[in-house]
Amino acid sequence: MRRADASAQDEVRRQNLSAVLRLLHFHGPASRSDIVASTGFNRSTVGSLTSELVKTGLVRERPGVVRGKGRPSNVVEPVSTSVHVLAFDVTQSGVGAARVGLGGYMLQVRRRLHQTTPMDVPGVVELIATLAREMDSRATPGSVCLGIVVSIPGSVRQPDGLVRRSPPLGWHEVPLADLLRVATEHRFPVAVGNDGDLGVVAEYLRGSARGQQDVLYVRGEAGVGGGVVVDGELLKGAGGYAGEVGHIVVKPGGRVCSCGARGCWEAEIGDAAIIRSVGRDPREAEIDDVLSDVAVGNRRAVAGVRKTGEWVGIGLASLVNLFNPRVVVLGGTLGALYPTMEPTLAEAFARALGPIREQALLVRSELGSDAQLIGAAEVAFADVLEDPLGTLEARRTGGDEADEDVADVPMPRSAGTQRSASR
Ligand SMILES: [Zn+2]
Repeated sequence: MRRADASAQDEVRRQNLSAVLRLLHFHGPASRSDIVASTGFNRSTVGSLTSELVKTGLVRERPGVVRGKGRPSNVVEPVSTSVHVLAFDVTQSGVGAARVGLGGYMLQVRRRLHQTTPMDVPGVVELIATLAREMDSRATPGSVCLGIVVSIPGSVRQPDGLVRRSPPLGWHEVPLADLLRVATEHRFPVAVGNDGDLGVVAEYLRGSARGQQDVLYVRGEAGVGGGVVVDGELLKGAGGYAGEVGHIVVKPGGRVCSCGARGCWEAEIGDAAIIRSVGRDPREAEIDDVLSDVAVGNRRAVAGVRKTGEWVGIGLASLVNLFNPRVVVLGGTLGALYPTMEPTLAEAFARALGPIREQALLVRSELGSDAQLIGAAEVAFADVLEDPLGTLEARRTGGDEADEDVADVPMPRSAGTQRSASR
């Protein structure tokens, strides 16, 4: 066989293995017949692809249940303990961490509160490194770690993971990816992403925006982050900083924002603004106090949150005019308070242009506070889903490989095919 033919065949093989693994990773166990129906490959191709994936340990087969007449079709499932990712979500209050296995299973979750304010960089780096080592040591022996991915509420340069600026953390020009590589003795590939980008990736692949190609995600916390998917692609911008929706100006001459400017959207809808809107002092009260007041129907709290809802709607109206999303996902505090804000938010949102507004469905995040961890995990799974055999080999053999980035935070592809309805 000519060399060109052989490499073209290898490429087709890689793509086909990728299609099957992606289907199982995003949609869970599937019978061989389901895989045939979803991928359009014939039975024998699916049989051979499945056998090859079983050999790698990424998937396994078990006998299926007999439905009607005929032989049962084997069920193929991702092996959650074959490969894993260490995902981290750094916020103003603390660090969330998860070990996530193939198939998107959260195998272990940890949450730690910060000890200092603002967050001292060495302390956070050491905390993440310690959690990474601890979670990795608990992985099933033989499970391959695909890397560490950290979500940061701020502008992160790609592909080197330099945190340019994070107002909620009080960080400037922190080479977080490099620091983490050193702190973990170069054992893992490391990537760092923006919390809004990772949030929209998660909602697009596994959350409220599944199956949609145009998505706007807004996360309200101490800071307000955002991410945009346009036509199935993450909007990055010239420097990878697109989607910093918290700092669009909605109220000229308004309150001073954490970024130093005045009248940013974040200064009107961030946690501190919400706490103030219910008549409390952000230095004394916490956002959880507001959430519990709202939960018991405290009138002052509900009125304050509704007032904030109007600002949420004003900002969203502009963003919807700009991006024409099919789904707008509200995460973090905004997701939690959305039902309370709904009346005033909807009224302000109605000022967006009619035809554009009508297409945009407003929803709460299904993934809640796990969205950043899930998005971070998917970024690290992207390579193995793209090239299962090549990536596994590189991670199993390459000590030097760990020095490389997981790659620039990419747009992981979804399964691309719909699961057949026969399940
Ligand atoms: Zn600002």
